[in-house]
Amino acid sequence: MNIHEYQGKQILKQYGVAVPEGYVAFSPEEAVKAAKELGTEVVVVKAQIHAGGRGKAGGVKLAKNLDEVRAYAKELLGKVLVTHQTGPEGKEIKRLYIEAGSSIEKEYYLGLVLDRETSRVTLMGSEEGGMDIEEVAANNPERLFYEEIDPVVGLTGFQARRMAYNMNIPTKLVNKAAKLMLGLYQAYIEKDAAIVEINPLVVTGDGQVVALDAKFNFDANALYRHQDIMEMRDYDEEDPKEIEASKYDLSYISLDGNIGCMVNGAGLAMATMDTINYYGGTPANFLDVGGGATAEKVTEAFKIILSDKNVKGIFVNIFGGIMKCDIIAEGVIQAAKEVSLSVPLVVRLEGTNVELGKKLLNESGLDIVAAGTMAEGAKKIVELVG
Ligand code: ADP
Ligand code: MG
Repeated sequence: MNIHEYQGKQILKQYGVAVPEGYVAFSPEEAVKAAKELGTEVVVVKAQIHAGGRGKAGGVKLAKNLDEVRAYAKELLGKVLVTHQTGPEGKEIKRLYIEAGSSIEKEYYLGLVLDRETSRVTLMGSEEGGMDIEEVAANNPERLFYEEIDPVVGLTGFQARRMAYNMNIPTKLVNKAAKLMLGLYQAYIEKDAAIVEINPLVVTGDGQVVALDAKFNFDANALYRHQDIMEMRDYDEEDPKEIEASKYDLSYISLDGNIGCMVNGAGLAMATMDTINYYGGTPANFLDVGGGATAEKVTEAFKIILSDKNVKGIFVNIFGGIMKCDIIAEGVIQAAKEVSLSVPLVVRLEGTNVELGKKLLNESGLDIVAAGTMAEGAKKIVELVG
């Protein structure tokens, strides 16, 4: 789960990480009020969307007086911002962060991620701040430094200082920067984050080390023990289909293709998507209805797939182990009754109660193309979608 920059900065503050003062605003009036409150010479008006690259896309504005704050707030609120991270459809700006302007001496990059190869949290830092870190990693890998963190010991002061030196932080600010890194690591661990990125971390004219941006991503499986983080969830930033699916405890992820998939088991779902790709098609979603799904849950899953306007065909691929094929059939029939089914449907059923499932589908009067194997089913749906 992602949160907004201003929410990330609230967390950072709790851990002693220096951030500029600021207020969230939902209207131009609130923006002006916030700027008055700050009373700084320069105020930054920042679009709050769950995507980076806002600066380049015109979503970060420097205002020198209250009239400019009002004008920028008016311009940004309601605007669809397209950045290299939003995709071409962009994201509508619904909130702003009004922040005290910092006098930036130099921008750096700092991040914490879980390195899956070492199974360890890794601190990453670079002197190349304020730009795409992926580009730095690709073109100037020697400019990116890593500190692998022992989970028992945690990030040590020595590692943090070494990182600060590697990043070429001015010598007199190394201890300040190291302290910030330790706070950042503590926040990462205690809040069960998956990614924390400070891009840019800046050194200011008056010798402060400040986080000017904050990106947090949290481990969804640990959210149950972080009520405070859960309250930061912004449903406006998420795919409505994924929100709907989460209500029914379905593992659903929207994708760009046009073949809707309903599968049980994550492994089978991945294999199904691969097979569709193999035959030249592209999946519209990943959907694992799970093992113990009820007919009601299957109905909802099917309705979610059908609500996707990009879906030009559906492939149901079920291996009934714990899941019974007749339950799937019932769910599909019920959903097709509730929302008219206007796209081709290929079904491959195997396993527990397969005969009963097939019988139900045959007698339903639905226009279903039966498939004997996963490959046959994938091939058929790709052909039907064209
Ligand atoms: P994004 O990563 O989405 O582009 P950032 O928060 O990193 O957004 O802002 C982009 C740039 O805007 C920063 O690299 C920095 O140069 C400038 N900036 C952001 N916040 C401030 C601030 N409070 N004071 C001065 N400049 C800022
Ligand atoms: Mg940034």
